[in-house]
Amino acid sequence: MSIAQRLNEIKNNLPSSVQVVAVSKFHKVSAIEEAYEVGHRIFGESRVQELIPKYNELPKDIQWHFIGHLQSNKVKFIVPFVDMIESVDSLKLLEEINREAKKFDRYIKILLQIHIAQEEHKYGFHFEEVEDLIKLGKLKSLSHIKLVGLMGMASFTDKEDQIRNEFRKLASFYRHLKASYFSEDDSFRELSIGMSDDYPIAIEEGSTLVRIGSKIFGSRE
Ligand SMILES: *Cc1c(COP(=O)(O)O)cnc(C)c1O
Repeated sequence: MSIAQRLNEIKNNLPSSVQVVAVSKFHKVSAIEEAYEVGHRIFGESRVQELIPKYNELPKDIQWHFIGHLQSNKVKFIVPFVDMIESVDSLKLLEEINREAKKFDRYIKILLQIHIAQEEHKYGFHFEEVEDLIKLGKLKSLSHIKLVGLMGMASFTDKEDQIRNEFRKLASFYRHLKASYFSEDDSFRELSIGMSDDYPIAIEEGSTLVRIGSKIFGSRE
């Protein structure tokens, strides 16, 4: 099957409440063009040095989602054009994105990345840290970022129960935040969970954004 066929097959079987972020990291511009030509517009990249040349070469109506660990000193390179930063994992990073966004007169949509996996090395906030940030009004003072939801990655395991459990906890925390702090805010609406191997579970647990790479583009070298 071609990239376009795989992408269409995935999209045709999704509920209308779920959008696909086509994760194109490590794949060529020509692969992205194949997906673009069949109407896909949301792409995810995890490295700044890879995203910049792709942004430069490709059509400007692509909505780029940054999904990797982002260093503060690289924020300025992506803020001029990025649509959403899904992997915000510290207050320092939030402040830096806000500062750069102000300079470029842009409003950047962000997701807070939450640590839900068992592995220690995965980045992200803990639930209490996020609730504190919101309660203490830290986010309100950042005028040029728009918190639109949460992102998380399940443990790297084939135990379906564990993956489901991790997604379920995050989905429940997301709904708690929505009800407690964002019930009047329609833009707080995204729960980014699910990758190639676990997105069907994530959708059952309430995902609105699935980040799918290898299932669309093939394996990465
Ligand atoms: C690479 C990556 C994905 C896509 O992974 P696949 O297993 O290829 O679908 C999704 N989310 C993040 C944060 C990634 O780094």
